[in-house]
Amino acid sequence: MSSSIFYHTGFLGYCTVPACIVTLKALGVVTLGAAAELMRRYEYDVIIIGAGPAGLTAALYTARSKLSTLVLEKLAPGGQLLNTEKIEDYPGFDTITGLALTEKFERQAQAFGAQIKIEEVTDLFPTQKLVRTHDAEYQAKAIIIASGGYPRKLNIPGEKEFAGRGVSYCALCDGAFFRDQIIAVVGGGDSAVEESIFLTKYVRKLYLVHRRNEFRAQKILIERAMKNEKIAFVLDSVMEEIGGTKEVEWATIRSVKTNDRHKLDLQGVFIFVGYIPNHEYIREHLAHDPEGYLLTDTNMQTSVPGVFAAGDIRQQLTRQITTAAGDATTAAVAAEKYIEKLQQATALPTARER
Ligand code: NAP
Repeated sequence: MSSSIFYHTGFLGYCTVPACIVTLKALGVVTLGAAAELMRRYEYDVIIIGAGPAGLTAALYTARSKLSTLVLEKLAPGGQLLNTEKIEDYPGFDTITGLALTEKFERQAQAFGAQIKIEEVTDLFPTQKLVRTHDAEYQAKAIIIASGGYPRKLNIPGEKEFAGRGVSYCALCDGAFFRDQIIAVVGGGDSAVEESIFLTKYVRKLYLVHRRNEFRAQKILIERAMKNEKIAFVLDSVMEEIGGTKEVEWATIRSVKTNDRHKLDLQGVFIFVGYIPNHEYIREHLAHDPEGYLLTDTNMQTSVPGVFAAGDIRQQLTRQITTAAGDATTAAVAAEKYIEKLQQATALPTARER
């Protein structure tokens, strides 16, 4: 579902708003001011950026509190849930798939009136509470940033060249392509270990390559991986290069202890070495840590009043679905209180009027 708005411009035919504006400006048909007029403007009480578990939970709460709520998502609702096959650490469900949980989150938020639009946010002006997408401009009273992150790259030779031709960042999306093949997974966190276990459903053999001999991943996951006969641990080692002809055929591994190198013959490499917070669209400074995760107070408020952050984009100890939902609940309640105060402040007479 795309919400692109097509305008008929007469001699130009139909085009999307940004394309129209660029063309009309280039042709000298409209001035910059007139071009801006073409952008559709909408107003909401709360705008939430990102429709992962944090964004959808925040939407459930703000919509249920009768605040007009818009969730803007660039791809599809679900966020990292869509990369997760089986979830067994979300309370109330013995196990549930990421897709099934997404559908439940989405339906529940929409049932209370939250609107979800598939539009990529290109600019956020926090102090003005103004959000811009390719198609429109949105004015809010409060903003909740829940745009999560994207997979970190190894940045080694062959990684980019073979992306989609044996190199993957999504086990659920691509696992089935590696039936009976040999693959490597890089990383030592929950994602690497959990997705390795999942991938053994398909593959013949899996090398789990990790740069240390201790894991960040939860003990229960490591124990499971250790019991899995298809998984071979390659520890204290880094992947240095991925190669092949048309598709991946090998990867070189270097021991960080001895510096010895060896080649692994394989057909696939899955990389799970963490996330990079997704905030390139933020146009003013918001306080963040050295890795770029947003800093918030205990009410999830960022360094700009009325702008809140929840989920994987926020600096915190752990990034779980439960913590995303918890952050989002706090952010939504805090946003509601912020709007209440704003309304009281504007309703009260100013000192001069008294
Ligand atoms: P993560 O916990 O940040 O782990 C990243 C792993 O990649 C670490 O083992 C790290 O090694 C390694 N790494 C980072 N850069 C590397 C590089 N350049 N070369 C080689 N290795 C590198 O990331 P994640 O596993 O994606 O998890 C992200 C968050 O989601 C975590 O909070 C996690 O708990 C959560 N999560 C939870 C679940 C679950 O509960 N079931 C599932 C998935 C994710 P070092 O350890 O040496 O730094």
